[in-house]
Amino acid sequence: MSLNLDDRQRAMLDAMGVTVWWPQQAAVLVPVAAASNAIDIEANKSIPVSQNAEIIEEKQPATPHKTVLPVQVAASARPPRVDSALATQTWPELQASVSQCQACSLCQTRKNTVFGVGQATLDPDAPPQVDWLIVGEAPGENEDLQGEPFVGQAGKLLDNMLRSLGLARHDRVYIANVLKCRPPGNRNPAPDEIAQCTPYLLRQIELLQPKIILAMGRFAINSLLAPTVPGVDNIPVGKLRGQVHRFGNTPVVVTYHPAYLLRNLPEKAKAWTDLCLAHETVTTAG
Ligand code: SF4
Repeated sequence: MSLNLDDRQRAMLDAMGVTVWWPQQAAVLVPVAAASNAIDIEANKSIPVSQNAEIIEEKQPATPHKTVLPVQVAASARPPRVDSALATQTWPELQASVSQCQACSLCQTRKNTVFGVGQATLDPDAPPQVDWLIVGEAPGENEDLQGEPFVGQAGKLLDNMLRSLGLARHDRVYIANVLKCRPPGNRNPAPDEIAQCTPYLLRQIELLQPKIILAMGRFAINSLLAPTVPGVDNIPVGKLRGQVHRFGNTPVVVTYHPAYLLRNLPEKAKAWTDLCLAHETVTTAG
């Protein structure tokens, strides 16, 4: 695999609770999913799973480095059409639309809208130039106060994981949520709120043209995969992992939401595997 993590990055993974078995010799990444048959990694008994890891490398001293592309591409489909009122908006116009939006009741309780955060732009009218778009669910309390997504403990975990891949939220990455306003009490987003807010996300994707979308958590997954995965809302996240889906022509990898990972520490290793799959997909696509 093209991931050549240095000692510092490995130490960061250790600190996150992501235990990795690092071979002493040449290594080959075991594919997360076969090209034609996406599988949950838990079901792959041939993979030597370490105590708390799904970042699995297999010693192959007799063969040269060889990457097995862990990519299964789901059927492509046209992305949902962007709301006609937003379809011609530039990045700053879209930001302004969100900041003034009153399309659902969340506008009454928000302190700030949370448009997103990421790579700075030299041209104020242009969208950020990014490889990655990370999509979460909705702002929480801290995000609502600061107007930025993923700023609490979940954000720190995400930042650490990105750093382990040589990325950062202000470097080739943009982070946004399905909802731009906080649901009171951090309750789940309501269907009508998602319906009203999703057009903003669709226009963000259209403008950003990311090389990969990482969908974190149930609501991001449902919003992005509904056009291509029938009945996606009834499919466990674990069954959707380990393969590359599509949003239009953009590859989508799904994973758990960092807030969920903080409550379910053993799942961190799975999320790391998902990030590796996304990284591999970007790298392979060039
Ligand atoms: S959540 Fe979205 S649709 Fe609702 S008020 Fe905020 S920006 Fe508008």
